[in-house]
Amino acid sequence: MRDYAVLMDSKDPLASQRNAFYVPEHDGRDALYFCGNSLGLQPRGVLPLLEQEVMDWRKYAVEGHFHAQNPWFSYHSIVTESLARIVGANPSEVVAMQTLTANLHLAMVSFYRPTKERYKIVMEAGAFPSDQYAIESQVRFHGLDPEDAIIEITPREGEHIIHHEDIIDAIKENAESIALVMFSGIQYLSGQRFRMKEITEAAHNAGAICGFDLAHAIGNVELHLHDWNVDFAVWCSYKYLNSGPGGIGGLFIHEQHAQNPDLPRFAGWWGYEEETRFLMKKGFIPSYGASGWQLSNAQVFQLASLRASLDVFDGVKLEDVFAKRDALTAYAEQLLMKLKEDMPHLPLEIITPKDTAERGAQLSLLFHEHGKTVIDKLLADGIIVDWREPNIIRMAPAPLYNSFKDVYEFATRFRKHCADLFGIQ
Ligand SMILES: *Cc1c(COP(=O)(O)O)cnc(C)c1O
Repeated sequence: MRDYAVLMDSKDPLASQRNAFYVPEHDGRDALYFCGNSLGLQPRGVLPLLEQEVMDWRKYAVEGHFHAQNPWFSYHSIVTESLARIVGANPSEVVAMQTLTANLHLAMVSFYRPTKERYKIVMEAGAFPSDQYAIESQVRFHGLDPEDAIIEITPREGEHIIHHEDIIDAIKENAESIALVMFSGIQYLSGQRFRMKEITEAAHNAGAICGFDLAHAIGNVELHLHDWNVDFAVWCSYKYLNSGPGGIGGLFIHEQHAQNPDLPRFAGWWGYEEETRFLMKKGFIPSYGASGWQLSNAQVFQLASLRASLDVFDGVKLEDVFAKRDALTAYAEQLLMKLKEDMPHLPLEIITPKDTAERGAQLSLLFHEHGKTVIDKLLADGIIVDWREPNIIRMAPAPLYNSFKDVYEFATRFRKHCADLFGIQ
């Protein structure tokens, strides 16, 4: 098994990308970091790019808006092309701004427009809490009752993964009353990837709008938002996009909505048409496309760190990233399944789908008992994975900086800790 890791690392076209990141240390050696789904590692390019802006601020102060090396006036656009490539969009459909939850609210102001007949939202049960609260509060904002207006799709009895047919059936059954279908691209807890193209199609066939939260999908899985006709999408950039804590969020608005004057929005001056913005005129005129949803002037430091991370993405083929993702995750899964086979009483179940088309990099390991004890052992041993209540350890090998050897090491040490805790049967 170790030979496989050595062989795979030796022919990995992304192997050298690990050097583009700082890997945290544990007891004088590299930690085994598998939390790229929560907070990506720091690209080495971050500090120089941040320093550039901090020094330009020192040197130019307000003049930096136009005279900095990268003028701040248009700084938000330095990430647009790279983001557009990653989400499969035209540059005018994408903007980096605010944070994920703020963008979800802003998008829902424009795209969740309930009427007496059509007011329901279809979403996954157990969505990330921020999404649940945003959606619930939007529903209340319109004077509606979340119990009535929100249709949650749950896994079937005793299962952890939502059946795709159950999503499609719910959309069909409620076709008359649905205003919005809102799903995550990848479920944060189970690691399930939803079939975004088909869900969008079903939503549109029902006459509804379709939006996605791409927090765990961007930089992790194949996205073709434009071709799939997704109406809007939001994301954060600190997970697989490695932009750092509290990193800048993003918004996708499909071109077909770019110039729709009927769409309400909560506007701000940075969404105003660029050429005439500084005439400071009364009456909001939105700039074309997603940038017309901006509120405030560019968050330069956040954008600088995202730019550094996107430099890494720009230097690689996305197909290589996705192929390595599948291979790494399958390898981790295979080693864990072997462990299960050798220790039939291990209270472990991998709940993430087996089919690579139905998942990204993450594996969610459900412990029927003693999960907390296991993760404490792992963390104390420099194996950085995370814990989600009530009983799930999430691990995600990130193809840009994790190696097959990392996965092998993980499995070997995981096996040792489990043997200590549970005894080999
Ligand atoms: C990480 C994550 C968030 C985080 O929202 P912020 O506004 O960036 O704090 C929201 N939704 C999902 C699905 C997430 O995975």
